Amino acid sequence: MTTWRVVCVKCPKCGAVFWIRQLMTCGYAEKDADFRPHYWGINPLDLMVHVCPNCGFAGTDSDFEEIGEVEDALVEVDAPANVKFELLARRYLEEGRYYAAGKAYHRAAWYVRSCTLSGDCQVSQLEEKYLRKAIVCFKEALKRGQVPRDEKAIIVYLVGELLRLCSEFEESIKWFEKTLAMQDEMSEDVKKWLLPLARRQKRLAEERNPSVVLINQNHRASRLREVKRGTFKRLTAPSTCLTITADELLRNIKASRQGRAKKPLVRQRPLSSWEIKEVIRYLLRMYNVTRKAKQSDSKRKTTMG
Ligand SMILES: [Zn+2]
Repeated sequence: MTTWRVVCVKCPKCGAVFWIRQLMTCGYAEKDADFRPHYWGINPLDLMVHVCPNCGFAGTDSDFEEIGEVEDALVEVDAPANVKFELLARRYLEEGRYYAAGKAYHRAAWYVRSCTLSGDCQVSQLEEKYLRKAIVCFKEALKRGQVPRDEKAIIVYLVGELLRLCSEFEESIKWFEKTLAMQDEMSEDVKKWLLPLARRQKRLAEERNPSVVLINQNHRASRLREVKRGTFKRLTAPSTCLTITADELLRNIKASRQGRAKKPLVRQRPLSSWEIKEVIRYLLRMYNVTRKAKQSDSKRKTTMG
């Protein structure tokens, strides 16, 4: 289950102090063939990237210094996770970190998929946009030797799989063949699952099938369940999900900063609707516990009397 805590952090770029929701635990049932986990409950991708409300800097937990509670702290930017991952990817590109950028774009695609997967299990236009960016970054990372040795064969496979999802079948087959030719660079453990997987996905590419499939074929029922359910639980309000671009978000942040110069923006971190529900559930539970305790108490008194 996805859990988090609320902490105050300092932006490494502008020094602004703001509240973030920091991911503590999460779990998943299975994965797609491009390793996207099917998380239980709240989608933790929402909690993995934080955007500074003052300057738009995007980073993960380790990029921000945790500090004690600050009374007039701001609140982290609340945006769909795909946009936050896109901002993170752009930052990594500026820093020349292609492997990290590829992973960030790939996660942006994962998030879109969890919101938009349809009955035919094909990726949406927005997801494809992110997948294509991830492919470019992963290729560049491989070229520049940024991918750790023990992950190289896996990333070569992943490029093939992402190309297949984008219907680039001919090129995809080449990358699957490249993976199969890398046996000597794989550990025994990796060999066991990666070779059969690459063969299976190559067959799909040969059949010109761009569908998202599970990593374990025996779990078809789970895929159907997921499609039926349509979406994962999101922390971001569904109305804003996938309707804002990274550039629009940056413009909004800039506009609110200019607004703040005249009127200081001081507000409490708001609770998400999910958190409010949790609080109500907790209070009800406590109410029932006290009521039961009182009841058994009065029963005891009656029997004693
Ligand atoms: Zn900042």
